[in-house]
Amino acid sequence: MATIRFQALQETLNRKPVAVTEPSLRRSELYASNVFTTSTAKHYMPKEAYNAVVDAITHGKKIDRKVADQVASGMKAWAISKGATHYTHWFQPLTGTTAEKHDAFFEPVGDGAAIDKFDGGQLVQQEPDASSFPSGGIRNTFEARGYTAWDPTSPAFVMGTTLCIPTVFVSYTGEALDNKTPLLRALQSIDQAATEVARYFDKNVNKVICTLGWEQEYFLVDSALAASRPDLQMAGRLLLGHEAAKGQQLEDHYFGSIPDRALAFMRELEIECISLSIPVKTRHNEVAPNQFEIAPLYEEANLAVDHNSLLMDVMSKVAARHNLKVLLHEKPFAGINGSGKHNNWSMGTDTGVNLLSPGKTPKSNLMFLSFFISTIKAVHDYADLLRASIASANNDHRLGANEAPPAIISVFIGQQLTAVLDELERVTDGNLSPEEKTELKLNVVGKIPEILLDNTDRNRTSPFAFTGNKFEFRAVGSSANCAKPMMVLSTIVAQQLREFKAEVDALIEKKKMKKDDAIFNVLREYVKASKKIRFEGDGYSDDWVEEAKKRGLNNFKTTPEALKVQVSKQAIDLYAAHAVMNKVEIEARYEIELEEYIKRVQIEGRILGDIATNHVIPTAIAYQNTLIANVRGLKEIFEKDYTKYAAQQIDLVKSISGHIGSIISDVDAMIEERKKANVIDHADKKADAYCNKVKPYFDKIRYHCDKLELMVDDELWPLTKYRELLFTR
Ligand code: ADP
Ligand code: MG
Repeated sequence: MATIRFQALQETLNRKPVAVTEPSLRRSELYASNVFTTSTAKHYMPKEAYNAVVDAITHGKKIDRKVADQVASGMKAWAISKGATHYTHWFQPLTGTTAEKHDAFFEPVGDGAAIDKFDGGQLVQQEPDASSFPSGGIRNTFEARGYTAWDPTSPAFVMGTTLCIPTVFVSYTGEALDNKTPLLRALQSIDQAATEVARYFDKNVNKVICTLGWEQEYFLVDSALAASRPDLQMAGRLLLGHEAAKGQQLEDHYFGSIPDRALAFMRELEIECISLSIPVKTRHNEVAPNQFEIAPLYEEANLAVDHNSLLMDVMSKVAARHNLKVLLHEKPFAGINGSGKHNNWSMGTDTGVNLLSPGKTPKSNLMFLSFFISTIKAVHDYADLLRASIASANNDHRLGANEAPPAIISVFIGQQLTAVLDELERVTDGNLSPEEKTELKLNVVGKIPEILLDNTDRNRTSPFAFTGNKFEFRAVGSSANCAKPMMVLSTIVAQQLREFKAEVDALIEKKKMKKDDAIFNVLREYVKASKKIRFEGDGYSDDWVEEAKKRGLNNFKTTPEALKVQVSKQAIDLYAAHAVMNKVEIEARYEIELEEYIKRVQIEGRILGDIATNHVIPTAIAYQNTLIANVRGLKEIFEKDYTKYAAQQIDLVKSISGHIGSIISDVDAMIEERKKANVIDHADKKADAYCNKVKPYFDKIRYHCDKLELMVDDELWPLTKYRELLFTR
């Protein structure tokens, strides 16, 4: 019995770290060596083509077919020099992962001859068989086909022997079928809105980009151990298993010395990342055993999103070479910390200014405050949309479970900035007196950089925290595609900046106010209006749940509840106003996300039922039989007196029967609820049923299985245990 578990353990104990050979190049020299950067492109194409690519990147200019041929030819020559034999359009369908379909450059031309072919047409547009990607019904209603189109703002790269060309994925009628398209549209909108506001303060600003620096948390588990657990293999998390005696309570893992096998994996991962120009910089142990983090320097948001998607793919491949499995699931192990992906976000101008960084002069600080307060106001007005952007079946296990920011959206800004906003709230209505303005500029606005320097207060429990020169959206899940939260954040801030501009202009024109007076007046109103979203206390505490309720902030704990707002009138109007998504696209996405939720819970329910019925119950019965044999033996020896010696064993036999009985009836009841849910027509009601009727059985079934794990002979237990998964190296 229990052979798979023990074989896996044996295999794991025999492992040695896989040797990693550092490349002959230093990492700084290796950087971007597998990327067709603009500086590389310069050497591979005529000047005309090169200029067109640069124009496309900086101004979104279209590239015509003739130029596309020249670009393709250069790209092909470069890729072949890197050993590429195939090319693919690389995109991010609504499954949340990446997709690729490889085609060879090689093409026979008759008479035994062949050439390497890759032209502008193949570069610019492809038609993957799109019918198997989620479309939320878009393709049924409109046009059967979808196509991928080149995104020149994210450079092509060679991975293995394939040239990968980042693309968007849209239907023939133009609806977005991926995560990237709405993100690009949102980034364009915030560029326009933010540039106009920035020009109040600096006429040299012509473009504003969003910046994103993600921090990716993950677990590493030996691949043999992972393979021995059907739940880990198929659902990415343990659906049952009793906590180990030792978990993270000693806090001895965080920032500890990195285990050799993990370090070998990280080194190889970094080498791959760096050659793909993913600027990974930081690596460390996280809080839970076998949990780690990798973080790059921040980049332009679209590129950073692509790089994070690429990283998640590369991680799994590199891990396999090290006999490890990467767990990107938000909560692989109940009872210990889950994994998140903090999204550090800011806006930067083409003049090199970080708009969320306090500057050196009152003028630059008034600019900072305009963007800072507008962001807070945007989060206040669209908190539910932001919450929806991070909702998933996986993340439900993490949000609000005392170790991750809660499902209640709030903003933390720290003591000093709170004091600044308090001052702004007292600004006179209408024109300011010269004295008031001087006082404000010198002592409030002017003092910001100084006070931030010694700003040591940080709040790790806030879902959306200001950290000195950026906001950190901490509630994003570890397996999420960052495109969605970034798209929502960019759109809501774009909307707020548009309003800000309109309101300031109105005061200047209609009330004949000076620009600064108008800005102070508008900011005052924003500070007042957005007060309830600001929270400086412990976001993990029960008090906050109470307090938030009093303030009227929503606490959507589950995905089906959280997603609903996406199809509200407010959301539809917002996305329409910024041309980010139309109603069809919004509704399709809602449908897809509900479907995904339903399927995940359904799959987990099936796996749990199988394991409980096929693994746990037979094992419990086998052990119970040895107890029964033992009781029989005792009876034989001690005859009438036997109960004196067998009482505990008999209790154990009864207790095992009790747990077995509960598992059987709970599994049956869960299956009944699934059957009922499966015949519900509307996806939202079906998701509600899976959430509120099916899922509650998971904990009940798990409870009894975990009790049995503690009773049954360890030699018989077939499922690899927590302590083995988390501590065997
Ligand atoms: P921590 O939050 O763990 O203390 P840091 O503050 O050093 O770490 O940065 C975390 C992440 O924030 C990094 O990926 C970093 O590149 C990113 N970051 C720093 N500045 C910006 C910015 N202006 N915009 C977006 N991300 C940024
Ligand atoms: Mg951080």
